[in-house]
Amino acid sequence: MFAGARCEYHEADYVIIGVPFDLTSTFRAGSAMAPDEIRQMSYCFEPYMMEYGVSISDMKIHDLGDVTSSDTVKSMGEELYQIVNKVVNDDKFPIVIGGDHSISPYIVSAFEDVSVLILDAHLDFRDSYEEMKNSHATVSKRISELNNKGVKVCGVRSMSQDESNFAKKPLFLTSHEMLETDDFLDELMENIEGDVYLSIDMDVFDPCYAPGVGNPEPYGLTPVHYKKLISMLSPRLVGMDIVELCPRYDNGGITTNLATKMIYDLLGSREGRFKE
Ligand code: MN
Ligand code: MN
Repeated sequence: MFAGARCEYHEADYVIIGVPFDLTSTFRAGSAMAPDEIRQMSYCFEPYMMEYGVSISDMKIHDLGDVTSSDTVKSMGEELYQIVNKVVNDDKFPIVIGGDHSISPYIVSAFEDVSVLILDAHLDFRDSYEEMKNSHATVSKRISELNNKGVKVCGVRSMSQDESNFAKKPLFLTSHEMLETDDFLDELMENIEGDVYLSIDMDVFDPCYAPGVGNPEPYGLTPVHYKKLISMLSPRLVGMDIVELCPRYDNGGITTNLATKMIYDLLGSREGRFKE
């Protein structure tokens, strides 16, 4: 159980859902271990968040446990969709812990009328990958085909030649642009419409902060980028996932530590802000 998640489902504002699934991983598998590693790591931190003046133990969080289907992407996706659809219809905020990135389109399809922001080193805009339509490499493409207000991928520094031929701005923002100045923040807030769903592929961070991922890629973002982004974005968020964390390749647990603190920061910035 995630730290502080002592609330019953019917009273909860936030619902934690684990997806121990990494069947579509093609380079370094192991993200199926992430949900439990994150839950364990969640006891590392002080429940009180000094920055936001709130404690995670006062928040209404329920840990729903894990999705149980993991034989195929389809069976996992159908179960995950059913769960998230109920959570969203019950007016609760899903926090999904993956799993490889192939889980995200199933989560997004449970929402109506949201903008989707993806943080990722990779564009993930292939139409299919290794003959799979739903793979960790086709995420933003599948999401772009769903009925929503559009998708934007931030932190990008890798794509195939094919993708580069048809993926045009403003679909993505590169990590190089984001590392130069913080000017992108205001622009991003203005250009992204209404309610926002946030999907975080941990490889968006530089491997020095997040070595434990399936496909590490140098020249990435820093945790401070996330802090700034989440403080501006959190009131508009309706759901979030954290994916591609691969504990087997982690170094002293630092990637897991960061991913877990990111959930704290999401909760702290939302609850602290609303309390003001
Ligand atoms: Mn990626
Ligand atoms: Mn990805």
